[in-house]
Amino acid sequence: MINLLNFNRVSLRDFFVELGEKPFRGDQMLKWIYHEYLTDFSQMNNLSQKLRDYLSKNTIVSAPKIVKEQVSTDGVIKWLLQLDDGELIETVFIPEKTRGTLCISSQVGCAMGCKFCATGKLGFKRNLTTAEIIGQVWLVRQLRYKVTNVVVMGMGEPLLNIDNMLPALDLMMEDLACGLSKYRVTVSTVGIVPLMDKLFKASDASLAVSLHAPNDEIREKLIPMNQHYPIADIIAACKRFFENKKRKVIIEYVMLDKINDQKKHAKELVRLLEGVPCKVNLIPFNASPGFSYQASDDETIRAFQDVLMKAGVRTMQRRRRGADIQAACGQLAGNSRNI
Ligand code: SAH
Ligand code: SF4
Repeated sequence: MINLLNFNRVSLRDFFVELGEKPFRGDQMLKWIYHEYLTDFSQMNNLSQKLRDYLSKNTIVSAPKIVKEQVSTDGVIKWLLQLDDGELIETVFIPEKTRGTLCISSQVGCAMGCKFCATGKLGFKRNLTTAEIIGQVWLVRQLRYKVTNVVVMGMGEPLLNIDNMLPALDLMMEDLACGLSKYRVTVSTVGIVPLMDKLFKASDASLAVSLHAPNDEIREKLIPMNQHYPIADIIAACKRFFENKKRKVIIEYVMLDKINDQKKHAKELVRLLEGVPCKVNLIPFNASPGFSYQASDDETIRAFQDVLMKAGVRTMQRRRRGADIQAACGQLAGNSRNI
């Protein structure tokens, strides 16, 4: 069975042409799937009976299945999803007054092994297919949650799955599908430099980079991948992103007690980001069982933010949400003991 969620607009049009149909059938199908949430081909009344029969026999619209839903006291919802081969991933919905952000996964587990991340501890299982990536968005919208923003900040390193990621990003920003603005679709990466370039050449999505340290000495203790792509290379890629897109990169910085959260680190970060058009997002560390790091206290985070702001670097604090259900940044593990 061919899963139609694997196709972006271009490839879906090609698919119908190969069946001897006109390309616009692909556009009609996108609207049935992403606007009407219809999965029963027999009800698609603008397609011929013959085509409907063919599609029913040979194709399917299939998203991951919800096996568990948890709702946090602050309104955050986390779903544990099962894939066709039994693997598990997690997706988190963060409702706010004027928007709803969906945090989706890109891989089962992650190979990067960052020392502060629950997903990293799992190790890598496999890449998600395009259908499994866009299926998370489709599924939650189909439940009638108002998803206005998507962040690829769940389980996995999205750029190491870029070939399946790109069509899914297309569908998020495609008017005939999810129709989200490019400012509201954000891919977060640990900093795989050549793939950062590939991403901005092939997609309009916004970019967030997990920097987490003002120098290589600290960063390589936290992020093993820093040995391959050190900070200077990542900063250069951020500049290229800006030159290409005229949009700022989001620099993510997880605040770890006494590791990277001191004023001297803030000052070093200011120097590092000189001439880099960016916004900094300070993330409170979320503990998971078995980690030795501690979260910075609120005062330390405020003082750190102050140094950056005074130097003219736009800096926000990410609110810690969904921590009571292990749905906050870095807590997604999606293992079966959660069922
Ligand atoms: N692999 C990508 C995207 C997924 S992680 C990346 O690393 O960017 C999304 C964000 O959560 C990253 O900035 C990551 O560093 C951060 N994160 C991981 N573990 C965390 C933790 N325990 N507390 C807070 N943030 C964490
Ligand atoms: Fe992977 Fe991102 Fe976690 Fe690092 S922080 S282990 S790259 S998911």
